[in-house]
Amino acid sequence: MNKPIFALIDCNNFFVSCEKIFRPDLEGKPVLVLSSNDGCAIARSNEAKVLGIPMAAPVFKYRDVIRNNNVVQFSANFELYGDISKRIVDVLNTITPRIEVYSVDESFLDLSELPIDDFVAWGHTVRKLIQRWVGVPVSIGIAPSKALAKLASDRGKKIPELNGVCSFIGPNSEVPVDHMRVMPVQDIWGIGWRLAPKLRAEGIITAWEFAQMRPQHAGSIMGIQGRQLIAELNGTSCWPLERIGKIRKSIMSTRTFGEDTHDFNVVEAAIASFSANAAFKLRRSHQLTTKATIFVTTDKHKPGYQRWGQEVRFDIPTADTGILASTLVGALQEIYRPQVAYHRAGVMLYDFVPDSQLQTDIFGKVDIKLHDGGRARMEAMDAVNQRFGKRKLMFAAEELAAKWQPKHNLRSPRYVSHWDELPVIKS
Ligand SMILES: [Mg+2]
Repeated sequence: MNKPIFALIDCNNFFVSCEKIFRPDLEGKPVLVLSSNDGCAIARSNEAKVLGIPMAAPVFKYRDVIRNNNVVQFSANFELYGDISKRIVDVLNTITPRIEVYSVDESFLDLSELPIDDFVAWGHTVRKLIQRWVGVPVSIGIAPSKALAKLASDRGKKIPELNGVCSFIGPNSEVPVDHMRVMPVQDIWGIGWRLAPKLRAEGIITAWEFAQMRPQHAGSIMGIQGRQLIAELNGTSCWPLERIGKIRKSIMSTRTFGEDTHDFNVVEAAIASFSANAAFKLRRSHQLTTKATIFVTTDKHKPGYQRWGQEVRFDIPTADTGILASTLVGALQEIYRPQVAYHRAGVMLYDFVPDSQLQTDIFGKVDIKLHDGGRARMEAMDAVNQRFGKRKLMFAAEELAAKWQPKHNLRSPRYVSHWDELPVIKS
């Protein structure tokens, strides 16, 4: 077996970069993408970062900065970002099928079986390819473990001389220690703001100091993950490529309404739509659920905040949108009060079993024929929606009652997924 070699391809300021593809006039300008309901900044261009607008900043706090610097704002256009993300994965798939799509803007590639000598040159070629074919700038890190590849891509992004590519392997490669010595411990993958203060209290300030810790000690702070992280940072791969993604333990679908509502039909449509969304994710992870909770709340920022929840159990594990939606709408009927102004609602699925388990149900409780019929129906629905666009086929209850749809006043056109919003070229 060849030695492991991973590349992390990480899109820079991803949501903002997607907007810039269709708005080249925004080059060099400060740009923000806002969360649903236009409340917080969820992506910032480099120019917006320089202005000191932090990630997740509530925009009302930065009203003056935004006005004085002509910061351009967009409502999140997730349909567009999802499509661009898929195009990048398509490009990466032409390089190797050994790919793990880690998040909407990050993918790991396994390079161990590719005939590459100069990884730095390879990285620059891939960067140009994605820039030319999709139009999104990426940073690439190449290393013998995933944690080091992540660290390398971070350095590639932050150090202008590296021009987006940092390799710890091959000719012209960088030395990990040099980078870890100047990297704060909280920038390591998986450390973050919660663990960093604990580590700093023990005098561990840089990534290098963390990598030098005794594995047992890291284990006592972070569990098995901590021991593995230390090995990974020292160049020993513990985390293989996960081709199908991680096994999900729970799935949540929740939103704030565009405006508060008393209307049962509006809340019902939202719950049905969340059920459909969560059920689709559940099917894609090849699991069935045995429990679900719905919740509804009033506005947290208004007096008399209240939250109601209702749990339901499924005797027969399911991932069927129809069963989930009708059961959860039934649960909503039990807790719904007409005098309440509902502000937010959500659906959570948990306690999963693998979907292969049902076929070997030894107790004979499950009607396999009925189950397989439902499954075929769901597969057909997912296939139609994949082929013709999200939500082309859906359950009547999820009718898109316009009221529960979040506000997105500043959304850019869905350039690539709606015929009537395609970009127009004048010549
Ligand atoms: Mg990124």
